[in-house]
Amino acid sequence: MFTRKTLKREVEIEGFGIHTGKFSKVKINSALNDGGKIVFLTKGERIEASYRNVVDLKRATTIGVNDKKIKTVEHMLSALYGLGVTDAVIEVVGEEIPVLDGSSKEFVEEVMKAGFEDFGKEAKVVKVVKPFRYENSDGAFIEVRPIDTEELVLKCSISYDYPSLRWQDLEIVFGRDTYINEIAPARTFCFYEEIAHLLRSGLGRGGNYRNVVVIGPKGIINGPPRFPDEPVRHKILDLIGDLSLLGAFLIGELLAHKNNHRLHVEFIKSFMESDCYKYL
Ligand SMILES: [Zn+2]
Repeated sequence: MFTRKTLKREVEIEGFGIHTGKFSKVKINSALNDGGKIVFLTKGERIEASYRNVVDLKRATTIGVNDKKIKTVEHMLSALYGLGVTDAVIEVVGEEIPVLDGSSKEFVEEVMKAGFEDFGKEAKVVKVVKPFRYENSDGAFIEVRPIDTEELVLKCSISYDYPSLRWQDLEIVFGRDTYINEIAPARTFCFYEEIAHLLRSGLGRGGNYRNVVVIGPKGIINGPPRFPDEPVRHKILDLIGDLSLLGAFLIGELLAHKNNHRLHVEFIKSFMESDCYKYL
């Protein structure tokens, strides 16, 4: 049984956002919400962490209600989902969740230090009962299939027309220890050649050589990676963060190819309109 969990005490994290470059403060409070929810509070607005509240997907996932928004929620939500936290109220002062080291490692460490409280109540679970596939015109896709066990198996592959990063793939069985050790430390990445364009588009203003793995034609420019296949691991980190917007744990096999935030959320929306799942 998947049970609902919250934090034993609040956690405070601060830093600057990767896209805005602006300082923000986050306080994750323990909570027993109505039905197992992660809820953000900002400027007096309550924004549930749900795919229904996604308002922007340019290089990050932004959620919002009315004119109140919070950018780049995916790494923190990934940490909470990876650790099995279903209930929390997150106060945000600022526009964007801090990027920290570009991974979800510090969120994980702080939440682990706070500890967990298990309410002994069943968490929501979405089980895949029929295959479902969502793809876009670039050949990127996410496909889910039923599975015999009560697990989520994630298979992710990335491919680029780029000399030092042609292909990476990885398969994991989703679980707390796997998440902590294999996924959480993987940092976000970009290609050296796209930095100028990102900055011109008003993105990446808080990015630097400490919080982004910068990939050049001959390999990583800024020091050794944390894993030889760190980029695909970060893609799984992002995928898990966006999957948390389902508001439920997922059981099934999930294959993702060339995935990004837009694909994740478009997949979730169309999957939730399908008859390919049931709530346990
Ligand atoms: Zn990311």
